[in-house]
Amino acid sequence: MRHWKLFAALAIAIGSIWFSGCAGPESVNAPRSVTAYSGARLLTGDGSVIENAVFVVENGRFTRVGRDDGTLPAGATRIDLAGKTVIPALLDAHSHIGYMKNLSSGPENYTRENILDHMNRFAYFGVAASMAMGTDFGELPYQLRDEMAARRYPATARFLTTGKGLAPIDEIRPDNMRHSATLVTTPEDARREVRALAARNIKIVKTWVDSRGGSVRKLTPEVYTAIIDEAHKHNMKVAVHATGLADVKLLVRAGVDGLAHMVSDVDDELLDLLKAHPNVYFTLCFGGPHRLVYAPWIDPPHPLIRETVAPEQIERLRKRLAGTKPDARARAQAAWDKMARGLARINAAGITIGVGTDGGGQTGDQFVGWTMHTELENMVAAGMTPGQVIVAATRTSARIMGLDDLGMVAPGKSADFVVLDANPLDDITNTRRINKVILRGNEVPRAALAAAWQAAMGPAAGAK
Ligand SMILES: [Zn+2]
Repeated sequence: MRHWKLFAALAIAIGSIWFSGCAGPESVNAPRSVTAYSGARLLTGDGSVIENAVFVVENGRFTRVGRDDGTLPAGATRIDLAGKTVIPALLDAHSHIGYMKNLSSGPENYTRENILDHMNRFAYFGVAASMAMGTDFGELPYQLRDEMAARRYPATARFLTTGKGLAPIDEIRPDNMRHSATLVTTPEDARREVRALAARNIKIVKTWVDSRGGSVRKLTPEVYTAIIDEAHKHNMKVAVHATGLADVKLLVRAGVDGLAHMVSDVDDELLDLLKAHPNVYFTLCFGGPHRLVYAPWIDPPHPLIRETVAPEQIERLRKRLAGTKPDARARAQAAWDKMARGLARINAAGITIGVGTDGGGQTGDQFVGWTMHTELENMVAAGMTPGQVIVAATRTSARIMGLDDLGMVAPGKSADFVVLDANPLDDITNTRRINKVILRGNEVPRAALAAAWQAAMGPAAGAK
């Protein structure tokens, strides 16, 4: 019953933007729409700040960006953003899309409807695109990726996929996301499966090298070296889930491109290796470990959480975090302190750092879209500046994800940006003070989306 209400309400919300999109900037026959946004403080995505900026959007793209000199293109509609701060729409290079649905998480939720619902959640939170890292299966992810590339959804976040991840036997289980990976046991398997992903036009291969506390036989160096070598032959990157210092060193030596999580510790040898392999990047996924020791946003729940997450799911996470035993909390604090010191060192060394959040992940209640904002806060807590963090979440992540037209407010780029009521350079949590989100020149119908989610949650949520 509930999900029909959600479906109907979302269909109305999305239908209205769909038609406005078809009749507006995306249509060939429509008159050219020109909109000039003026007066805001603009963080362009490369670290520069333009006070009293003007940027012009035509047919879903930025055509002019600079200081407001009072001149506007003929016929432009002017939108006054005085007092606001504008950032490029954020990008999440590591998530798990389509599984989470209120209290349940599993492949039974992995439907077109639920994936699109997640992409609407990303859009609501100011995220322009998110890449599902190795937990997709079937034809659906490829269909959706291609529909997104064809701009079929004017104001929804873009869905990207690494296809099925490549994993050793112990990582593959019938439960939840563990069922979806492809088994590789020999270098020959590895090469064959990488070629299969290349045929699907996959750009980043996901794999796992983690003993999970000694409970899992890891992928061997022989096999992951074959994955990396074959991927590079096909102009693909390899991003690995690995957190152990020794494993990460071996992987960097083997030519891995991306580290999908923060390494547990950083020493001089790793720093030297990273400097010698300047193309290696990190997407940190800090939220899981850090929230055990720092999650003020759950109690009381942040308004953005209340608007998008069912009360019973909020309560489940609140209870879980509040119930963390003192010894577990002490271990989490020690692990976090070490990771934070490590991040400060790799950041100071100029290593490439993008943003991944594990949103939708099975470790539980990684609220889709919200995790972006906690991840940015975590990165600042670990010693990066807010300015560096905004660049990481925009231009750097766009490069990592291969999205040439995203990550900056600059002429020629897709008009994907977030209008904020306060400056995130003053306080990174100001990325949560979202005034509006524009994707491909179209405003995301945030109020309609929130109303649809509230309706689906039932009267208990609406009464709060
Ligand atoms: Zn993950």
